[in-house]
Amino acid sequence: MQSLYSLLPNINSLLISVEQSVDCSQYPRTLIKDAINEYLSCIRDKIKNAIITTPHEVEKLIDSTCITNFVLQAIQPHFKRVINATGIVLHTNAGRAILSKSATQAVMQACQYYSNLELDLNTGERGSRYTHVESLLCRITGAESALVVNNNAAAVLLILDTLCKGKEVIASRGQLVEIGGSFRIPDVMKKSGAFLTEVGTTNRTHLYDYEQAITEQTGAIMKIHTSNFKISGFTRTVSLEELVLLGKRYGIPVIDDLGSGSLLSFAQYGLSDEPTVQQAVATGADVISFSGDKVLGGPQAGLIVGKKVYIDMIKKNQLTRALRIDKMTLTALEATLRDYLTPETLHLNNPTIAMITTPPHTLKNKAERLASLLTMLQSNDIRIKIIEGKSKIGGGSFPEETLPTYLIRIHPLTFTAEEGKKKLLTTSIPLLTRIEDNYILLDVRTLQEEELPLVATMIQELLEHKS
Ligand SMILES: *Cc1c(COP(=O)(O)O)cnc(C)c1O
Repeated sequence: MQSLYSLLPNINSLLISVEQSVDCSQYPRTLIKDAINEYLSCIRDKIKNAIITTPHEVEKLIDSTCITNFVLQAIQPHFKRVINATGIVLHTNAGRAILSKSATQAVMQACQYYSNLELDLNTGERGSRYTHVESLLCRITGAESALVVNNNAAAVLLILDTLCKGKEVIASRGQLVEIGGSFRIPDVMKKSGAFLTEVGTTNRTHLYDYEQAITEQTGAIMKIHTSNFKISGFTRTVSLEELVLLGKRYGIPVIDDLGSGSLLSFAQYGLSDEPTVQQAVATGADVISFSGDKVLGGPQAGLIVGKKVYIDMIKKNQLTRALRIDKMTLTALEATLRDYLTPETLHLNNPTIAMITTPPHTLKNKAERLASLLTMLQSNDIRIKIIEGKSKIGGGSFPEETLPTYLIRIHPLTFTAEEGKKKLLTTSIPLLTRIEDNYILLDVRTLQEEELPLVATMIQELLEHKS
């Protein structure tokens, strides 16, 4: 065993060998050294545990191509681009919405140059970062006033902290939703210092349930969009309209957490008619919050719109400073929102809207082009077929709905679909896929045009390293 250890080269000679075989000049040397050390200690463990017992096996592992490949893999930045072939448009684990061209450019500008982030260019005095999007948001939604923060979870926390600390908030039991990543409405309420008064039952809540719960201590009535689930059957929910009337009668503000918060009605695209922000404003909700990176198709942000009296109170809350939006997000949000001023061309500019509304014949055409790229790989390890299927929108919106799509169905003959799916996460650009039975499915809905050849390259990498 000792003699096996002595076959291992020293780190410096490996470092030289790696640096001679590939150009690593853009990577910190300390990362390369760590990677080599990790590789060597892995071999040492194998010797120690008698997984490796012969000199020949050691020599095979210290092959310079193997080491270089390992090192190149290990020194890459951790945060990576991935290709989303799941068809889930708002894939929370893959970063939800991707930004439009104009938003992307705006972010680059904000990063590279100084800006008027908090500078009033008319007076040369200090300005507010919030002015960049406030009037735009008011214009689009019809609200009196607006404010943006880090995300919608922050928005909900901030609203409750401002309006309801130490007071009661009335909400329906049917709406106490948990969003992925452990955001739960009752918990956020507790954090804000508000006391939740649950009314109704899981499936049915009536207006009188809310009314009977009103006390001297009531700070607000809250409606929460059941973003990621549906209760069906024998149900009853109270409309925003009814809640607004009730709130008015008792002088209590009505908060509407819209979750995904669409600024566009998707009914015209055959999807269910989720309430839009404009409708909530028109109905008279006092404070409305929603996400920037769900169906709106912008950066991660929490958008708050509503009556000026309340928004002014929220702006003055110390917590706002802690939850504030940064300049890259802000400029991306402005660019995204500006596209909403011309809704008729939104499907051309906003990638999220584009992907949700892509007509089936366009998807079919895309699938055919991808299939022919894959056929050119001429592999005996897989069989390719185009099939019809369904895409999900994701991101806590339209939980019940699917969109008709076209899928590339890959039938692996020499490995399992599960193995293939896993392996595709380690290709040079990780490729996210779905599996069904023993098939790997590529949904073209979420693939951008220039990604089609890349997908073929990743499948080729899979076939080269399938074991
Ligand atoms: C998604 C969602 C949130 C959280 O929004 P983030 O922007 O992810 O922080 C809060 N409430 C509802 C109803 C949601 O759907």
